[in-house]
Amino acid sequence: MLSFDNRLLNELPGDPIQGPQLRQVHGALWSRVDATPVSAPRMLAWSPEMATTLGLTAADMQSDAMLQALSGNGLLPGMQHYATCYGGHQFGNWAGQLGDGRAIFLGETVNAAGERWELQLKGAGATPYSRRADGRAVLRSSLREFLCSEAMFHLGIPTTRALSLVATGDSVIRDMFYDGHPEREPGAIVCRVAPSFIRFGHFELPASRADIDLLRRLTEFTMQRDFANMAFPADMPLHERVPIWFGEICRRTALLMAEWMRVGFVHGVMNTDNMSILGLTIDYGPYGWIDNFDPGWTPNTTDASGRRYCFGRQPDIARWNLERLAEALALLLPEPAPLVESLGMFDSTYGQAWSQGLAAKFGLRDWQDDDAALMSEIFELMTRAEVDMTMFFRLLGDMDMQAPKAEALRAAFYREELWEDFHPPLYSWLQRYGERLKRDNLSQEARQTAMHKVNPRFVLRNYLAQQAIDQATEGDTSMLQQLFSAMRQPYDDLPQHAALYALRPDWARQKAGCSMLSCSS
Ligand code: AMP
Ligand code: MG
Ligand code: MG
Repeated sequence: MLSFDNRLLNELPGDPIQGPQLRQVHGALWSRVDATPVSAPRMLAWSPEMATTLGLTAADMQSDAMLQALSGNGLLPGMQHYATCYGGHQFGNWAGQLGDGRAIFLGETVNAAGERWELQLKGAGATPYSRRADGRAVLRSSLREFLCSEAMFHLGIPTTRALSLVATGDSVIRDMFYDGHPEREPGAIVCRVAPSFIRFGHFELPASRADIDLLRRLTEFTMQRDFANMAFPADMPLHERVPIWFGEICRRTALLMAEWMRVGFVHGVMNTDNMSILGLTIDYGPYGWIDNFDPGWTPNTTDASGRRYCFGRQPDIARWNLERLAEALALLLPEPAPLVESLGMFDSTYGQAWSQGLAAKFGLRDWQDDDAALMSEIFELMTRAEVDMTMFFRLLGDMDMQAPKAEALRAAFYREELWEDFHPPLYSWLQRYGERLKRDNLSQEARQTAMHKVNPRFVLRNYLAQQAIDQATEGDTSMLQQLFSAMRQPYDDLPQHAALYALRPDWARQKAGCSMLSCSS
């Protein structure tokens, strides 16, 4: 069904101790563990695109052997269970060893095209890195990870993927944040998939322990396995390759940030242990999507006061995280200056990707210097007037700019009284936007088509995911399937998805579990 070639296990040192007892793991990158069996696994959903990429048929996905493997109850030939060791900076502070506390690897599979994909079960039981937690995941968080990873993929944004969502049949105890009382919730496991799950924190941990040997081995391994397309002269020493490679990590991270900002995605916990070395969106926890445009918004209740990880700060935080990675990698260099220089790659890439991305969002052929003022004006207006980001850009794309009407954007306003105040400045902005468009001389159809390609009609709004969760908890997966279907064609105007194209309803505004989410999942 799948063929495995577990390079990480074969090429990087492992922990000599076996079993889930908590420990500090030194000198090793991974530990052998056993997934904890679950009582009644049931497949809730799987991704046909991911299955196809891995070379799996529908029959494979529906087989009992696959269900057992995807719930942690069994192994397919070549699979092994292990967890990796990493550290990280959490909310700006060094947190020491963290590691895969509730993710257990199944191995590295290589498909017919020669692509390597790591498979992980999230929520399959305790590992040496579980700290005080149980290694389990609840249906709520697993369903959100399953849907959002595939939604991101179909939006065209770099991300880890999800193959399957399996209900375990067991309940999990969680301290829900809204009343402080532990609740029993249904458990579920996502099988997530990525070319590499290596994080910034994998490098930071050996660096923090001055374990240069492990840091060097991991760096060589990652360059060879995960950046094989970067061609270095055979005799180039490591200390010369590292800054070039790090520049590539900066470039990918910058592109990712520009993409998140384009679609209004807020990760919510951009700790360095949640930063992928490949520049993928990773670790879907208390993430959220912008409804009313607001750079200060965060979906994460544990970050509500500081707003460290709010929408508008994400690019700055990504850069801060890259600086921490640079500090770790600096141990491999005689002096850190070349790494500092590579950080410039983040700034230049982000600046360019963001302005090009904005030009595309507004349907401009390219970015011109005076566009910045026009755009910051509308963003400020959207913030103050509480305008829905996703709907605004779709409606703007539809608008006939020969005769612009502010009224056509009214559907994106959350508050009637703000419409009254803001439609005059909106109208005058539209006049100027119309003037700007004339310079490009694009037809209305061409502009609309181009804008609809970059401005999604569907994002995974929190309240929609919550409705799918509530129903799935009661055993009904129809909303999950409906959302999954819309998220797979996020830019298309299909009648069967029309009901999902709507503003966040009033009841979902600040309701716990809908607009706001904690890390505890
Ligand atoms: P996160 O904030 O989700 O990125 O998690 C930070 C660290 O806590 C990682 O090392 C996770 O593996 C660990 N962790 C989070 N939730 C659990 C859980 N339910 N059981 C065990 N470890 C967990
Ligand atoms: Mg994490
Ligand atoms: Mg998490």
